[in-house]
Amino acid sequence: MDYQSHFESAIEALHAEKRYRVFADLERIVGRFPTAIWRHENEAREITVWCSNDYLGMGQHPDVLQAMTNAATSMGSGAGGTRNISGTNHPLVELERELADLHGKEAALVFTSGFVSNEASISTIAKLLPDCLIFSDELNHASMIEGVRKSGSRKHVFRHNDVQHLEELLKAADPERPKLIVFESVYSMDGDIAPIAEICDLADRYNAMTYIDEVHAVGMYGERGAGICEREGVAHRLDVIEGTLAKAFGVLGGYIAGSRALVDAVRSYAPGFIFTTALPPALAAAAVASIRHLKQSQSERHGQQRQAARAKAEFSAADLPVMPSETHIVPVLVGNAELCKQASDRLLQVHGIYIQPINYPTVPRGTERLRITPTPLHDDALIAVLRDALVETWTALGIPFASTRPTHEERREDVTSLVVAQAGG
Ligand SMILES: *Cc1c(COP(=O)(O)O)cnc(C)c1O
Repeated sequence: MDYQSHFESAIEALHAEKRYRVFADLERIVGRFPTAIWRHENEAREITVWCSNDYLGMGQHPDVLQAMTNAATSMGSGAGGTRNISGTNHPLVELERELADLHGKEAALVFTSGFVSNEASISTIAKLLPDCLIFSDELNHASMIEGVRKSGSRKHVFRHNDVQHLEELLKAADPERPKLIVFESVYSMDGDIAPIAEICDLADRYNAMTYIDEVHAVGMYGERGAGICEREGVAHRLDVIEGTLAKAFGVLGGYIAGSRALVDAVRSYAPGFIFTTALPPALAAAAVASIRHLKQSQSERHGQQRQAARAKAEFSAADLPVMPSETHIVPVLVGNAELCKQASDRLLQVHGIYIQPINYPTVPRGTERLRITPTPLHDDALIAVLRDALVETWTALGIPFASTRPTHEERREDVTSLVVAQAGG
């Protein structure tokens, strides 16, 4: 048995499909966000990052850094164990209180990441309900899909944001069976928003529970940064709100907020919570500082919305194929994995701009894109530089502009001829 050859051929398959991933070696610079140092072939160069999920630049906020260093200096680096074995560090107690208050829920529970919070919570909630049926949006994040799978429950996948389809599925189900609807508020690849109130209406009508992932909305939407549910005044209608501390809050960790009984049950039954070391106190303290700041400050949120709108307008005016987005996310369509990678490489090497290519399976084939995330710290001058760099790159690589995009049929032929060319070459 040649074990290594299996790993090598798995990697080869990704190369053949032009979706082998390479991570840039970056070093962010406090005080100069979104500038970073890029190390490549024994060279270190300053570049501009345009694809960070540190959406508001909170990862370098003085209050956050102060809280983190204070806690590390006084309480040490690690948590010292799982909460089951070693108890809970006090900053984590404060963090869970802060999160419950943020979402207007009785309780909150912190996990080591947003991924773990989804996987552990969805699977545990569904397992605790007898014979639970799960209704899951087709574009849900991988962490939610893992949670659904791990629950072992029967699942129905509804078409993305399609309440009519969801209703058909709910209507067809046994009224006596427990039901759980899992979905996101902001979908991070397209930047669209779920019809949350309508989904809650259906949940009421068919007696289902609701679980929403607000990972790409917390910190950024609502008067206190609690997300889209807060902005739309529907937070009280959701049974579980899940979020991350790693994106707009700029730290690390994930959480759920909900009723006391539900949160206590997940705390008591979820292996992904119980059998892993807790978040270090310094991270919990930093997250508290970030949440508190964003509860009362609007300037980061306003700055982000302003710069995202400006970027969309500037790129559209330059005929770049900006995909429709209702949020701070600015996807620009490439439509081909190889070209997407080449565009990303060219932006970095020629223009000193870092935007990771987004390819299958993160997005469907044929919709490969650059996903641009303007923050309050990407000023007008940086947007103009990016616009010009994108236009140069689109021209140099022959990527279609908005007005020259081929029709769907022509595009299919393109893809076919490309595949044939690759197979031949
Ligand atoms: C990033 C992401 C997660 C996972 O959050 P982490 O804290 O990074 O583990 C969960 N859901 C969605 C929709 C995400 O994009």
